[in-house]
Amino acid sequence: MNGKKFHIIIFIIFIISIIGIAIVQYQYLRIGLNLAKVQFNQKMGLTVNEIKEGLDQSNELTFLVGKAITKDDTYFKLSIDSVYDASSYFLNDFLKEKLLQQGIKTEFTYTLYAKDSTEYLLSPKSYNNEDALLKYPIVLDGYLPSLVEKRLILELQFKNLNKYFLSQLNGLTIPSLLFIMTILFVIIWVLKSFYWQKNLITITNEFINNLTHELKTPVFSIGIASKILEEKTDNENKELVSMIRSQVDKLKNQIEKVLELASLEGKNNFIDKNVIDFKPDILNLINDFKQLASLEKINFVSEVKGDAYILKCNSYHLEIAINSLLENAKKYTKDNVKIIFLVYKEDNNLIISVKDNGIGISDNDKKMVFEKYFRVSSGDVHKVKGYGLGLNYVKRIVKLHKGKIKVKSEIGQGSEFIISLPLYKK
Ligand code: ADP
Repeated sequence: MNGKKFHIIIFIIFIISIIGIAIVQYQYLRIGLNLAKVQFNQKMGLTVNEIKEGLDQSNELTFLVGKAITKDDTYFKLSIDSVYDASSYFLNDFLKEKLLQQGIKTEFTYTLYAKDSTEYLLSPKSYNNEDALLKYPIVLDGYLPSLVEKRLILELQFKNLNKYFLSQLNGLTIPSLLFIMTILFVIIWVLKSFYWQKNLITITNEFINNLTHELKTPVFSIGIASKILEEKTDNENKELVSMIRSQVDKLKNQIEKVLELASLEGKNNFIDKNVIDFKPDILNLINDFKQLASLEKINFVSEVKGDAYILKCNSYHLEIAINSLLENAKKYTKDNVKIIFLVYKEDNNLIISVKDNGIGISDNDKKMVFEKYFRVSSGDVHKVKGYGLGLNYVKRIVKLHKGKIKVKSEIGQGSEFIISLPLYKK
């Protein structure tokens, strides 16, 4: 499966999951609403009983309501309108209290009427007919019906109950909506920055690739030209020409390193490996570096212990990696450069150590030196040319050999880079 197809599939899974979450949430909401309705009906059942009980007997409230529905103004010495209003309010308060006792806090109205549809008493506030959605008629017994000698019905009316149920569920719906939005936002943001970064990395790699290819040809030509010149020149200028040659070689090495790094990037971290004795390569490498060291007045000490170093490795990459460490040891030491190069076997591993007496690395920077493009920014390090690629390359090569690399260093005391590679076992 290619990358693009994979991305499309991931994207589809992402969209389906988000839609899935939204549907599940919607279903939860519906179940919640239904449960709220069932609960409301249960509560109303209890409330209706309590209201019935409260209104069946003769008490202060039913006495007052009784006076209002029989239009009897003799007892209270008030106008019959005042008696009506007062009983309407008191009955309203009584009903409100009974509803509240069951936890029902929504608006309601009521009508007290007889079977023959005479209306006796209305709540202080009343809705238009179309607003009243849900009605709970309560048939009254006892005191009040006996006063008018008719069957009396107290009807409770509720409007907009859905809104009320939703308001009860608000504590759940709003947070879940918010969480879905947050997840969406975060995922989109992560995806966006991921693609942006990936683009940037690809562009950078392409740029480095092109640049190094462009540099390779002229450097190669200079190399050949200087080689020819070296053969032809007299003794007087020989030193100058050989300096040009050695510097061109160095430049060639650097370009090679960058190119290798870029190509490693493209190849999904795959390199060819063969089972070989790596010891001769190490000895060659030491020989070359010794020559350079004597030219540059570097105190170079090397020790290679043990017999054959059988590794399953890519010697070309490993040599460039070790050379990078030696180059660094030289580069990051100011004067009286002393480099100790040790190779030995320990617990089925080949240990390669490069130790210098240079400027050292702080604890914080130690964690970073293997990162691509990282260079220690303090002091005069930038007088030394570099791109922050060397150690990253070394680490990747070591990793591709299932090895480990670590650094021991202290500011001003020098550094030691230690590579450990597993020896080949049949
Ligand atoms: P470059 O040398 O091209 O900058 P490297 O990846 O080789 O890149 O090294 C990264 C950084 O680690 C260097 O810039 C330097 O600051 C630090 N460093 C590497 N080797 C040494 C060393 N032997 N001593 C001190 N600092 C070092």
